Amino acid sequence: MFIKTRFVRILTFGFANGICLYPFVLIGKEIELTHRLITHEKIHLRQQLETMVLPFYIFYFLEFLFRLLQYRNFGKAYRNISFEREAYYFESHIDYLEIRRPYTWMKFMSRSEPKLTSY
Ligand SMILES: [Zn+2]
Repeated sequence: MFIKTRFVRILTFGFANGICLYPFVLIGKEIELTHRLITHEKIHLRQQLETMVLPFYIFYFLEFLFRLLQYRNFGKAYRNISFEREAYYFESHIDYLEIRRPYTWMKFMSRSEPKLTSY
C-alpha cells in the first residue's frame, strides 16, 4: 500500500523519494508516483518478504556501513547497497517482478556488474 506523507524526507535524511516499511510504502508528498518509482518500491517489498522483513533492515544497514567505508560517500554508499542496486537496475523494467527470481539482490553484492543472463 502506497501512502503519501511528508515524513519521508525526515526518515531518509533527504536521500530517498520513498521508503519501504513492509507492507507500506511511504512516498514524499511532493513526489510524482511514476511507474519507475512504483516498480522500485515493489522490488523492495519483495526483498523484504523474502528476507522476512526485519533481517532486511539489518542487512540493509550493515551493508550501508560497509559501503560507506568502501566509498566514503553517503550517496554512493546508499546507491551501492545490493538491495538498491537491484531496485535501481530493474526499476524501468515494468514486467520485472513477474519474472524475477527470489534473492536476485544477492547477485548485486559483488563490486562488478552482475552477470544476469536470466533473472
Ligand atoms: Zn530503493
